[in-house]
Amino acid sequence: MTKYIFITGGVVSSLGKGIVAASLGSILESRNLSVSVIKLDPYINVDPGTMSPSQHGEVFVTYDGAETDLDLGHYERYINYKTSKSSNYTTGQIYDKVLKRERKGEYLGSTVQVIPHITDEIISNIKKGSFEKDICIVEIGGTVGDIESLPFIEAIRQMGVEYGRELVSYIHLTLVPFIKAANEIKTKPTQHSVKELRSIGIQPDILVCRSEKNISNDDKEKIALFTNVEAKAVINSIDVDDIYEVPLILHKQGLDDIIVEKLNLSCSKTSLDSWQKYKKKRINLKNKVHIKIIAKYGNYSESYKSLNEAIKHAGVNSGVNIQIDYVDAEKLENSDTSLLENSKGIIVPGGFGDRGIEGKINAIKYARENQVPFLGICLGMQAAVIEFSRNVCNLKNANSTEFDKNTKYPVIGLIEEWLDKTGSVQYRDINSNIGGTMRLGEQECLLEKDSNAYCAYKSEIILERHRHRYEFNNEYKEILKKNGLIIAGQSSDKTLVEIIELKDHPWFLGCQFHPEFTSKPINGHPLFEAFVRSIRDY
Ligand code: GLN
Repeated sequence: MTKYIFITGGVVSSLGKGIVAASLGSILESRNLSVSVIKLDPYINVDPGTMSPSQHGEVFVTYDGAETDLDLGHYERYINYKTSKSSNYTTGQIYDKVLKRERKGEYLGSTVQVIPHITDEIISNIKKGSFEKDICIVEIGGTVGDIESLPFIEAIRQMGVEYGRELVSYIHLTLVPFIKAANEIKTKPTQHSVKELRSIGIQPDILVCRSEKNISNDDKEKIALFTNVEAKAVINSIDVDDIYEVPLILHKQGLDDIIVEKLNLSCSKTSLDSWQKYKKKRINLKNKVHIKIIAKYGNYSESYKSLNEAIKHAGVNSGVNIQIDYVDAEKLENSDTSLLENSKGIIVPGGFGDRGIEGKINAIKYARENQVPFLGICLGMQAAVIEFSRNVCNLKNANSTEFDKNTKYPVIGLIEEWLDKTGSVQYRDINSNIGGTMRLGEQECLLEKDSNAYCAYKSEIILERHRHRYEFNNEYKEILKKNGLIIAGQSSDKTLVEIIELKDHPWFLGCQFHPEFTSKPINGHPLFEAFVRSIRDY
């Protein structure tokens, strides 16, 4: 039977609940326990896919095509578990389900209420998303005390009562601030946060206290006394240089042993060798190399979370200390490329809408003409096709119909716009959402032998995740190929272009999919590693 670990947060947001959840999952997995993870988000949006990355951070895409919260990306980077449509629920989605049922008359005239109808819906989704693993870790978004998260907290409280404390454990993550003027750390916010949690019926079993400075044993005992938590179960998550050290520091303080004891788990000993090895490689990185990411969504560290991590993984695994410099795409719109000077590699990531697109195209021109290794992801590949069409094939003002509906040369377009003319494309699965149709989730791609892509993956068939509406227009395939563009990857039915490359360039690759979603620190990702190696060796 699945045992549940619920993780709540207090005092302030952004303490890294997702990293703690993911790290704990990874430690437990190393003890031969199977682990699933769920994120519950208190906001009302039904479709996180429509939320602005600048405000809410990246939209992470699962293998089965769900557009979700970026914390799911953390889970997949630490744990060998593929999250799915059943791994992320928002308040909006829960209410949507209940309201639909109410409209169908399924409640048989009874009064529909937060308790029990909303809470029951939450509980049933948690059970469904556990996939009957040994352990299901459930992270509750927001901070305790928020009005929005109350139904979720109530639902997990009820699960504790229903299952008992051998099947359910609660971890509460708080902040223990350091007050410079007093030269002291302060435990009061943690005491208040636990008081708040207890007032809604949950006594945490374990506290993970985030702090800038070390929390002494005396302070741990003080926190324990005031919160009714055992002193050994007060764990200090001190700030670290790198998020992949968190499993090591949590294990060192015995977090997993406490869980094993509380949930009465029978399992093997912990083995965190792979995290140790990763740390060793990271601290031994030497030659610093600067690459540029041509971005449009502010709040870069969150908006491009998986991308930042994927580059870091590739750097560590290839022995290169990669420094990422973000360049605002709009600043490159006037053809002044001085901001790109000295870049050793250029990445144009995914995006929606025309803001900054001409700047991205200029950056790609710079990479192509100056032989700078280039990786274009999704919109980045599309922009590379536009740049090549305009500047090499003389298709003046060629564009994507996303940016210019009436362009004379729609080298990128919606399939529906050119489908009938070629007659070659069978329409793909449609995932309908508010925005219309989107190609989402994991799909097969066939690689051309002797391409850069094939050299990277060392396989002719790969699976990668997608999130886009527009496609390479096959009508322009021949003319682009004649001018030196290589079609290095296509969908398994060979109707959709998945990867483009260039002849006569050290390393230039655009892919229609998002490789960043599947990069893990321990294994890296073949495409990012090939990109970083091309920089290192060029
Ligand atoms: N806007 C483009 C499309 O919808 C690219 C999307 C992306 O980069 N994820 O096809």
